[in-house]
Amino acid sequence: MDVERVRSDFPILRKGLIYLDSAASSLTPEPVLSKMLEFYREYRANVERGVHRLSVRATEEFEAARREVAGLIGASPEEIVFTKNTTEALNLVAAGREWGRGENVVTTLLEHHSNLLPWRRPGVEVRVVRPDREGRLDPGEFERAVDDRTGVVALTHLSNVLGTLSPVEEVAEIASEHGAWLVVDGAQSVPHREVDVRRLGCTFLAFSGHKMLGPTGVGVLYGRREELGRLSPLCPGGGTVREVTSGGHEFLEPPARLEGGTPPIAEAVGLGEAVRYLKSVGLESIRRHEEALTRRMLEELWELEGLEVYGTPPEEERGGIVSFNVEGMDPHEVASLLDTSAGVLVRSGHHCAMPLHLELLGRPQGSVRASLYLYNTAEEVERFLEAVGEIARSLR
Ligand code: PLP
Repeated sequence: MDVERVRSDFPILRKGLIYLDSAASSLTPEPVLSKMLEFYREYRANVERGVHRLSVRATEEFEAARREVAGLIGASPEEIVFTKNTTEALNLVAAGREWGRGENVVTTLLEHHSNLLPWRRPGVEVRVVRPDREGRLDPGEFERAVDDRTGVVALTHLSNVLGTLSPVEEVAEIASEHGAWLVVDGAQSVPHREVDVRRLGCTFLAFSGHKMLGPTGVGVLYGRREELGRLSPLCPGGGTVREVTSGGHEFLEPPARLEGGTPPIAEAVGLGEAVRYLKSVGLESIRRHEEALTRRMLEELWELEGLEVYGTPPEEERGGIVSFNVEGMDPHEVASLLDTSAGVLVRSGHHCAMPLHLELLGRPQGSVRASLYLYNTAEEVERFLEAVGEIARSLR
């Protein structure tokens, strides 16, 4: 992968900053920006409902984006619903499902709040599987937690704090044995590695455009065709119906019935271009690039005195996310210092994963998180490590 070539596509990088916050939101390359501008300049019109040429072109581009997204994860276009973000996609499943009496949801202590709160529904018991201290989930724990009253198993693919990967395929088998839906939060996996929904065995997969080089305001819910058809629309209205009379209506098939109102057109078109961009670089190359940088980062941080580093040790496979604390310092203070002293931008706090920080790490103040993407370089990692080293030494 030619990182310098990739970097030249990202205007923000010309500011000379070291951006290590892609897990919160990624940067956007020129081709994506141009594609969105092209929509506003050349064929700005509403989709799906018009017969004039601008509407036809807008619809074609919008549907082409859906095909790109479907192709990325091995789905078919009818299984792709455009949402606002991962959070909305997960809520679409939780609120659209017809819950049976006494059903339960099995989830984990690793989850982002967006894959926990939507499942807290009246009459639904939420069972939380605990990973080990480094964030490894044992499929045996799911075997014990899932039963015939389990409606949904909700699982992150890659932890947004620890970077650890979940045993999704094994959990898919357990869920399927009990007839439960497996809902996977792919917000941190889909942007960074090859993901195939059939291989994973999930029923639903949610992810966000803004974490994968796309614009803000668009996300994706993949749903297996039959199960998508069983969700009732969260937002009924224009665009969701085949026929309406003054007293009744008939909904369209998904995805239209789940995309009420005018969708985020420019954003979806931009996301389609982001997917083309990711494919042209190659997700396997991106994964390998991040893996090398992560290993270097972890090996050094692991040895630094005065630092507590979370997740699995450097030799185990994980995504490009590294969270830590400098002993005796608040994570926000560390993040501010890294910005002001070295132009290194990282995230601090609980990263919307409070149960993990409180109940697994025992760190209510949260942590500092550095996260990598295709545009980061080995030199940036060295500068980050130097800056963290200086902060840690200043306290000795
Ligand atoms: N799930 C995970 C694992 C995340 O990292 C995030 C974002 O930080 C989300 C869900 C929520 O994404 P969004 O804010 O785009 O809905």
